[in-house]
Amino acid sequence: MAEFDYDLFVIGAGSGGVRASRIAAAHGARVAVAEEYRVGGTCVIRGCVPKKLLVYGAHFADALHDAAGFGWTLGETSFDWDKLRNFVASEVDRLERAYTNTLDNNHVEHFHERAVITGPHNVRLTSGREITAKYILVAVGAWPVMPDFPGNEHCITSNEVFHLKSFPKHVVIQGAGYIAMEFAGIFNALGAQVTVVNRSSQILRGYDESLRDRLLEITRARGIEFRFDSAIEKVDQRADGSFTVHTHGHGELHADVVMVATGRKAKTAGLGLEAAGVALGAKGEVPVDEWNATSCPSIYAVGDVTDRVQLTPVAIREGHAFADNVFGGQARTTSYENIPNAVFSQPPLAGVGLTEVKAREKFGEVKVFTSDFRPMQNMFSDRPERGLYKLVVDAGSDKVLGVHMIGPDAPEILQAAAIAVNAGLTKRDFDATMALHPSMAEELVLMR
Ligand code: NDP
Repeated sequence: MAEFDYDLFVIGAGSGGVRASRIAAAHGARVAVAEEYRVGGTCVIRGCVPKKLLVYGAHFADALHDAAGFGWTLGETSFDWDKLRNFVASEVDRLERAYTNTLDNNHVEHFHERAVITGPHNVRLTSGREITAKYILVAVGAWPVMPDFPGNEHCITSNEVFHLKSFPKHVVIQGAGYIAMEFAGIFNALGAQVTVVNRSSQILRGYDESLRDRLLEITRARGIEFRFDSAIEKVDQRADGSFTVHTHGHGELHADVVMVATGRKAKTAGLGLEAAGVALGAKGEVPVDEWNATSCPSIYAVGDVTDRVQLTPVAIREGHAFADNVFGGQARTTSYENIPNAVFSQPPLAGVGLTEVKAREKFGEVKVFTSDFRPMQNMFSDRPERGLYKLVVDAGSDKVLGVHMIGPDAPEILQAAAIAVNAGLTKRDFDATMALHPSMAEELVLMR
């Protein structure tokens, strides 16, 4: 008889948990996973994937608007939120089935209920069933933080935004990070009046400053309003069901939807980690070492719950490395250098490597090359929006330390540039590469 029911028990069937389960099973481990909500986790069910589909839906607003400049005469156009929302929901259903099939095909047993840790090798399911495992992997992700103010029960987060019963005319969003800027762009393009309220005087903290300024300028021109150095004081519901949003220092705003996007916190409350002696960090996150090991030798953690880099591809790499390391006999860790990232705002931003400010801090003397251009696709429209690309180069070695871009399709272009930055290529290598003309991407090799 085996000493434990399973070799690995994974809590959370999101990006990190599913990858770890499947790879551990492929290495021969007996694996089970518990998921209290839906297989697929934040990215598939209520994050990256449905968000990107909404972004695609929103892009038609620009295309329809610009079409006349290219000779098209369009009849009356209208947007049907119910249709888009339902299409997105059915795609999420399809992906959930695909993820579930992945678990089945890899002989990973799955329990659709909450699991709580009761000891270093023990979990208890909601049904009361007690399970033992040689190793436990915590991959429960993170959850939106809801600031404390009167009336916050009227506010939604990114969890609820995909299920809105009707499309709002007026939207107030608190926060100006990834989620806020992406949904501000989606709501604005689809026809809502959007106001962003943020505690500081900037958007997208950590992003390259010139790109942030450009996004702010463009989004303002598109009609999104900003209330900086402010926060929601309280939200009152009106008789018609809409809301009055009282802000600190910026008066009252009217809204049909009030969305809060002020960061995400590790979902460890009530998980029982303390019962197994797992030390938690100040924000409730599970601190781990480079091997994803917690302070309890039989318990590991990957993904957003560890609060390292809250991005899906990172969670997947961590889950894969964990499984290879613990069950495949391969010492693998995850590199956090040069992680490409994007904000799917309108237009999108994308970046890899060091920003100009960070590069100066680390390397002292850096050279900065920029290309500030009007994308060809905007030429026949009344859209004066300009793209901005930036290369940050180490003056000593000529190595490209960072690439930062804002403009149409920037995330699609950046992935290839990230290979060059990750490979340590120099500005000379970029210059020596022939331009692909006419494209926006060619700006990357034409900056002098
Ligand atoms: P972010 O950390 O990106 O932004 C949080 C925003 O809320 C900032 O504007 C911040 O202000 C503000 N804020 C933070 N704390 C408070 C508070 N206590 N009260 C009021 N305002 C506050 O968080 P998001 O929720 O937008 O996204 C969470 C994470 O999800 C991201 O960091 C990212 O890792 C991931 N994500 C990635 C996406 C992508 O890759 N495209 C898309 C969506 C999410 P300030 O910084 O100005 O002080």
